[in-house]
Amino acid sequence: MLIGCIADDFTGATDLANMLVQGGMRTLQTIGVAEAAPRDVDAIVVALKTRTIEPAEAVAQSRAALSWLRTNGAPQIYLKYSSTFDSTPRGNIGPVIDALMDGLQTDFTIACSAYPENGRTIYRGYLFVGDVLLSESGMKDHPLTPMTDANLVRVLQAQSSRKVGQVKFDVVARGAEAIRARIAELKREGIAIAIVDAVSDADLAAIGEACEDLPLVTAGSGVGLGLALNARAKGRLSHAASASALPPIEGRAAVLSGSCSVATNAQVAEWLRSRPAYQIDPLSLAAGRPVVADALAWTAERISAGAVLVYATSPPEEVKAIQVKLGSEAAGNLIEGAFAQIARGLVDLGVRKLVVAGGETSGAVVQALGVRALRIGPQIDPGVPWTLADGKPPIALALKSGNFGATNFFAKALEQIG
Ligand code: ADP
Repeated sequence: MLIGCIADDFTGATDLANMLVQGGMRTLQTIGVAEAAPRDVDAIVVALKTRTIEPAEAVAQSRAALSWLRTNGAPQIYLKYSSTFDSTPRGNIGPVIDALMDGLQTDFTIACSAYPENGRTIYRGYLFVGDVLLSESGMKDHPLTPMTDANLVRVLQAQSSRKVGQVKFDVVARGAEAIRARIAELKREGIAIAIVDAVSDADLAAIGEACEDLPLVTAGSGVGLGLALNARAKGRLSHAASASALPPIEGRAAVLSGSCSVATNAQVAEWLRSRPAYQIDPLSLAAGRPVVADALAWTAERISAGAVLVYATSPPEEVKAIQVKLGSEAAGNLIEGAFAQIARGLVDLGVRKLVVAGGETSGAVVQALGVRALRIGPQIDPGVPWTLADGKPPIALALKSGNFGATNFFAKALEQIG
């Protein structure tokens, strides 16, 4: 293993894992700390859910992940957070970096959330989202982690007990050697964490090369690509060409959609034009009608003829109406619970290829199927790979959150897995 990663949320973990596979690393994503020691992988990404929990709890969970990764031989540790540096004034990015630096007994690391392909760039320590500063982007109104300051040096300094400095763009543009020299200088000045500017994939590659020997790297998913490309260029990835290969999976196919995002509504509408689908009615569920049994009976009649879709996806005005009647959280929980049961029923019907739309919905399905680890496979659309889940039996899962994926995503995913 070349790198052990700790991600502060589930979709962020998948994003990084997908990036590492793109760079040629065979990657396993685990949900929390796994029991068994992973084999035949270049990278492991431990998915935690620590972004907005109490700092002390985030630190404890991150420490446990660190110790598991070290026990399994990870020579380098990567802390993955959001490309918009999602955090509160108390953390949890700073406290977790401090704890990992203590655990690794290292005196220097970088912090770089840049993801230029998605418009996240850092210039002179300021984070941009597209053409505006982070503090002018939609993130300023985020319900849990409002980001009102775009200066990452200030943001991180407020959260960390260590001294925060910078590797500015003029240095980064001169390449890996210049970055290394600047890091040596910062260390001499007593700086422990450097916000590193990056505006392009070439910058990420230079940063990846310059940071190959750091015991700890902290970043969004972008720097992961730089590290993987560097490892590949140095001949350390013997399976790079087949990093995304998954063993063939036999069995039936289905799609579950509990996401009500704009993209998902379009994807469901596209499927409805020509393919069979069963709509979950939240009010029937709330009234205690046997919706799950009906959905599975309907599926059992059709599944041998081809893939089916079971969905609760609705346009915003219908979702609002349901939420007014049932309460938002109660409606969400009720529907997620139904999808969890349906997912188990589908596996009993022989489904081994399952596409799930919705972040929370995916979480419910993964939990219901007892999945603890996902081997990351080929990418379907940007940020969404096929994965092989370790449940019993093993099953191919494509987990798509919110607004990801093209309009024909469902059919495209199923065609790709064959
Ligand atoms: P996304 O990734 O698009 O945010 P999620 O699955 O994370 O999707 O969240 C969607 C939430 O909406 C889930 O809790 C789901 O159960 C709920 N939901 C799905 N369909 C409906 C509906 N018709 N009315 C109300 N809530 C719904």
